[in-house]
Amino acid sequence: MNQVKQAVVVGAGFGGLALAIRLQAGGVQTTLLEKRDKPGGRAYVYEDQGFVFDAGPTVITDPSAIEELFALAGKRMGDYVEMLPVSPFYRLCWEDGSHFDYANDQDALDRQIHARNPADVAGYRRFLDYSKAVFEEGYLKLGAVPFLSFRDMVAAGPQLARLQAWRSVYSLVARFIQDEHLRQAFSFHSLLVGGNPFATSSIYTLIHALERKWGVWFPRGGTGALVRGMVKLFEDIGGRIELNAPVAQIEANGTRVTGVRLEDGRRFAADAVASNADVVHTYAALLGQHPRGAAEGKALAGKRFSNSLFVLYFGLDHHHRQLQHHTVCFGPRYRELIADIFQGDALADDFSLYLHAPCVTDPSLAPPGCGSHYVLAPVPHLGNAPIDWEVEGPLYRDRIFDYLERRYMPGLRSQLVTSRIFTPHDFRDTLNAHLGSAFSLEPILTQSAWFRPHNRDAELHNLYLVGAGTHPGAGVPGVIGSAKATAGLMLEGVAA
Ligand SMILES: Cc1cc2nc3c(=O)[nH]c(=O)nc-3n(C[C@H](O)[C@H](O)[C@H](O)COP(=O)(O)OP(=O)(O)OC[C@H]3O[C@@H](n4cnc5c(N)ncnc54)[C@H](O)[C@@H]3O)c2cc1C
Repeated sequence: MNQVKQAVVVGAGFGGLALAIRLQAGGVQTTLLEKRDKPGGRAYVYEDQGFVFDAGPTVITDPSAIEELFALAGKRMGDYVEMLPVSPFYRLCWEDGSHFDYANDQDALDRQIHARNPADVAGYRRFLDYSKAVFEEGYLKLGAVPFLSFRDMVAAGPQLARLQAWRSVYSLVARFIQDEHLRQAFSFHSLLVGGNPFATSSIYTLIHALERKWGVWFPRGGTGALVRGMVKLFEDIGGRIELNAPVAQIEANGTRVTGVRLEDGRRFAADAVASNADVVHTYAALLGQHPRGAAEGKALAGKRFSNSLFVLYFGLDHHHRQLQHHTVCFGPRYRELIADIFQGDALADDFSLYLHAPCVTDPSLAPPGCGSHYVLAPVPHLGNAPIDWEVEGPLYRDRIFDYLERRYMPGLRSQLVTSRIFTPHDFRDTLNAHLGSAFSLEPILTQSAWFRPHNRDAELHNLYLVGAGTHPGAGVPGVIGSAKATAGLMLEGVAA
């Protein structure tokens, strides 16, 4: 086995950062190369007139996986970033005016479930037991195991069968729970990682148990503060990060990669390269000159990709105290809207929204008395719906502002100080995301575990993947788990 002494990681998303920390802590001199001017990837930060906007992940779960990175490096997470608990986890609102506060408080949950449908109190308990069993198998046992051989998949088969992994999230929830609103409340989670609740494996109900076990957290200073803490950790232990450093090519010779070349011509030699960039971009663009890259890029481009998102960041000169930190605003349709988002070829007339109001937890993210927000709507990716977002974006923004003002944030328009949008075009052009997908390959059973692009390439023996496109998949805990799986492979043979 060739020992890795020097590694390059392409992309400083959560997956790339977590991998770089693990490698550096494991004794490998690691260089992290990021295309953009700031680290974080989907967790980028925009700032304007004193407002701070986390661009992407805001629901931070499983802080123990993050703490592990600091511990590996001999440090304490608390010295780098402070994690604040969020309660309720989310407020779920419907157009009939009702809402459900999803919190880690069994009595409060029972009371709210009972008020909707008494029979669902017992049903929810059974659902929670199921979710805990999936969490044990799918997250604790298999979340950071690299599925390199089909044998690993076969070994996991009996458990997957026992847990009825072929069922969809929604159909599983519906077995236990009768009330339609509650079915939505306990099935929407897979959307957080790009999974259609009507098509994604019921394994993804594990998110529910994960949140109940470890809670929902928010870093003081925003998710960006966590990213900055991880970068500082990486640098403190001797890692090197270069921003504004877009990689143009992963260089290869036969069945080995030898390093990378940046767009500006600079070269970085390495014993191993790991890509945190989009998987199609990695193979088709960065390795397009190599037969393996061309073939794999083409094969991956034909897979099913997750939906995209339309994200609208906005700062107000008013703090809306009636809001919770995380609100899901269900629109008039659920199943039909989700079908439009995952299979439709146009933008639906209605939407369901996620509204982020971080100043509820940390007022420092906006000037005194003001509020930073973002709202996102899941939308089809560009392969299904080639919408002209230059035209549609501002119109969609106005429709969403009207809706929020009418139902959730009275006076919003007159309080507006700043706003910006991020559309599927930006996912494609800024993040190099295939079809503008927000979460990479769709997490259906036939694109999960061994069926997902592997953490180590099958032909180029020292090329690795990390992040949403490899095992286990999208979401912050997912990509941090992928870094553990990938680092395990890369550190094989590295002397302690
Ligand atoms: C709006 C939004 C909200 C979300 N909310 C949540 C949430 O609340 N909780 C949660 O757990 N998950 C959430 N997710 C999902 C989660 O953010 C992602 O799955 C995860 O952050 C992806 O991390 P990653 O490691 O795959 O890398 P990414 O964040 O995709 O980063 C990849 C990096 O590679 C860089 N790159 C690309 N090409 C090159 C190149 N050629 N050279 C150099 N660098 C390159 C990119 O610039 C980028 O920085 C959300 C996602 C979005 C978009």
